[in-house]
Amino acid sequence: MPHIDLRSAAAIAGAVRSGALCATDVVATALATVERRNRHENALVETFAASAMATAERVDAARRRGEDPGPLAGVPIAIKDNLLLRGHIAACGSRMLADFRAPYTATVVQRLLDRGAVVIGRTNMDEFGMGSSTEHSAYGPTRNPWDRSRVPGGSSGGAAAAVAGELCPIAFGSDTGGSVRQPASMCNLTGLKPTYGRMSRYGLVAYASSLDCIGVLAHDAADLALALGVAGPDGRDTTALDAPVPAYVAELANRTELKGLRIGVLDDDDGGAGLDAAVKAATTTALQTLEALGARLVPCVLPHVRHAVSTYYLLAAAEASSNLARYDGVRFGLSRKGRTIDESYANSRSDGFGAEVQLRILLGTHALQHGYHDELYGQATRVRQLLRRDFDAAFAHCDLIASPTSPLPAFAIGSKIDDPVAMYRCDAMTVPASLAGLPALSMPCGFAKGNLPIGLQLTAPALAEVLLLQVANVYQQRTDWHRQRPEECT
Ligand code: GLN
Repeated sequence: MPHIDLRSAAAIAGAVRSGALCATDVVATALATVERRNRHENALVETFAASAMATAERVDAARRRGEDPGPLAGVPIAIKDNLLLRGHIAACGSRMLADFRAPYTATVVQRLLDRGAVVIGRTNMDEFGMGSSTEHSAYGPTRNPWDRSRVPGGSSGGAAAAVAGELCPIAFGSDTGGSVRQPASMCNLTGLKPTYGRMSRYGLVAYASSLDCIGVLAHDAADLALALGVAGPDGRDTTALDAPVPAYVAELANRTELKGLRIGVLDDDDGGAGLDAAVKAATTTALQTLEALGARLVPCVLPHVRHAVSTYYLLAAAEASSNLARYDGVRFGLSRKGRTIDESYANSRSDGFGAEVQLRILLGTHALQHGYHDELYGQATRVRQLLRRDFDAAFAHCDLIASPTSPLPAFAIGSKIDDPVAMYRCDAMTVPASLAGLPALSMPCGFAKGNLPIGLQLTAPALAEVLLLQVANVYQQRTDWHRQRPEECT
């Protein structure tokens, strides 16, 4: 079999479309790599070997018939355990759904298949997306390919470890409050959370519906642009935006420098998380590089951003408590008997959900309770509105806003598991864009001691994904951070 580099989706698709590579060879290479590496990192919780090989054979057959197998021809892709692919288990990292087989396919996953991509398996995650470390999973923790004693970030940590470990060039995750951007940053990847509604959520298991977005992880902005072709309206998701889908890949060529671009730089408010010195240094240098490429740095303030973490955790828990009410042991998933119907609900939910999910359901139920509703949930929705206005005001003076993605590089497995609030604070920089529904991208910009990746986050106005991808692409053509590989991969 030829040696196949699993780092670039664009290169793989180009070679498969031209006939220089067979999709079956690409996918066999990906599956062999999973076989070799996955037991060390636990990135994938299940490999779809048989269906993946069958899909690859169909791609090759289409090409032999002279048809175009599509812009993602033969590209192995992993999907987070909360995205549905008909006939396959989607467990959301939970005991509750350990045996749940998807009765239909998510719109975004179907569009991947329609473009010639091959889904090789499902990736580990914090249960129902609740976490920032991929430690809260019924499948056990995922390990960071850059340092296996550390977390890969979360909740799409399995997706990040799969791409960073070079099992596949692209993984699809979900980002409710940072779950694509933060693991991208901790695993030296480029990750994009699009505008809320840019990608259909049909077939994404709901966590907090007003915040949930499907997002993408890859090595570089060029591959993100290729993957983002699956965005766009969907009759099955009324929150999917009708806006036309730009030609993301072609648009990349329309910007080769950053002259005229105004980048807003937030003051040093880290939401109390404590900004790591290496993160500060690397992101400052990245801003200087962007400046050298022609951008102008302008100071920027979001006056309500210090309330973002509490606002987010209140709203996300409230919505989760309502969304997760469907797991009652009767209609879905794990079912335990009791003497009364209430007792069987309680038994099913106590056995099916892990501790963090139960904690969030309790908090969310409290926030929605009669008598507390306005003071807690109502207040959080008002603060969310203020934060939205902060962004509107800021974007009157700048085109993008830059900040670190995560205040810390990857932390040691187990080091924050007993302190949920410390874990929540780590999301201080990613939850603002989620609350405002704005697109945001994380890109590699340096390393802390011990070869731990650091990411720079860029946030844009609604539907400005093209600008984010172009700026990241210009940066990546002039820098090498995103090309660095973990030792085991070289
Ligand atoms: N860490 C955040 C949470 O626990 C964000 C997770 C996510 O984006 N799914 O809610």
